[in-house]
Amino acid sequence: MTDRKFTAASLAAQAMGWIDPVTKAVVPPIHMASTYLRDEDNGYSSGRIYARADNPTFDQAEATLAALEGGPKALVFSSGMSAATACFLALAPGDHVVVPKVMYWSLRNWLATFATHWGLKVEFVDADRTDAIAAAVRPGVTKLVWIETPANPTWSVTDIAAAADIAHRAGALLGVDSTVATPVLTRPIEFGADIVMHSATKYLNGHSDIIAGALVGARDDAHWAKLRTIRAQLGTILGQTEAWLLMRGMRTLFPRVDWACRSAQSLAERLAAHPMVSEVLYPGLPSFAGHAVSRKQMTGGFGGMLSVRIKGGERAAIATAARVALWKRATSLGGVESLIEHRASIEGPGTPCPPDLLRLSVGVEDSGDLFDDLDQALRRADNA
Ligand SMILES: *Cc1c(COP(=O)(O)O)cnc(C)c1O
Repeated sequence: MTDRKFTAASLAAQAMGWIDPVTKAVVPPIHMASTYLRDEDNGYSSGRIYARADNPTFDQAEATLAALEGGPKALVFSSGMSAATACFLALAPGDHVVVPKVMYWSLRNWLATFATHWGLKVEFVDADRTDAIAAAVRPGVTKLVWIETPANPTWSVTDIAAAADIAHRAGALLGVDSTVATPVLTRPIEFGADIVMHSATKYLNGHSDIIAGALVGARDDAHWAKLRTIRAQLGTILGQTEAWLLMRGMRTLFPRVDWACRSAQSLAERLAAHPMVSEVLYPGLPSFAGHAVSRKQMTGGFGGMLSVRIKGGERAAIATAARVALWKRATSLGGVESLIEHRASIEGPGTPCPPDLLRLSVGVEDSGDLFDDLDQALRRADNA
């Protein structure tokens, strides 16, 4: 199917068009086996030995994701965290890495604690400023520049091409957490990224029913082999049922993301004019700082994630989240159901997240219903 130059949307819908060769089933089987038969000559002609290294149920999800991102290879992991941390564990103690101040909070915590204790020299920068990345990078010493764009939970934007150029001039790799952009909107490898990471828990799966992660490499080289070895040795592989659910979810990635982008854009514009909202953070608003860079590296929309800052401060923000009926108060993002979250209270001390901020993950409900539900919650919170 790939030879015929079908679009990424068509490849995703049919999961590369693979048909089970034995049964002709249009949906693949789940392979439960943990081990594989050895040949009489002591070899493994199937190429498979033991399921901590891989599983045939991964193949279709990995091939589809690689095709969507435009890289030769993908690896699925047990979580977004295990995919991201593999990129840092592939380095050596003493190596210098440059990472954003505003990023997924759990990875930021891991970098500040485990990775630092393990010996990585971790430097946090304002990654929405290319000059700040350039000033932090040390030629020959920095081994990895990590960015997340748009970045949780303020959706600040990093110029991927500029970051790739800075990293490569210093002899470092560029890793991009592209969870929020998805391959529908941004293909970081086209802008020079060496590794693309996804929390596949979010948009790729899209149904809030698995935890999964993925990496896509720009090259199938020794570094890629190291990432595969780390997954096999740590055993951070995806369960076979989860891999199957991920593949099922990815078939509807394009229509889900397209719908969420249009709803989020409309909500952002309507909320920007709301009397109880002081600021809307969304890359699709022309007034947003990262809008111009987003236009360069996002195609087809600006994503389904936005944040609103509430005029009444932290108390009004928490009260607003308490008064919604359709939006669900929960962490996570990228599912079909819309979620609302008071982010500062979950991130805890040291968070760069303002206390008056509510994070919104726009799902596939009717966008008028979503606005009306927020509107009544904002008005009631104001009267509380
Ligand atoms: C959720 C998330 C992660 C972590 O992924 P898990 O699947 O929860 O381990 C990393 N980065 C971003 C941007 C996320 O939203």
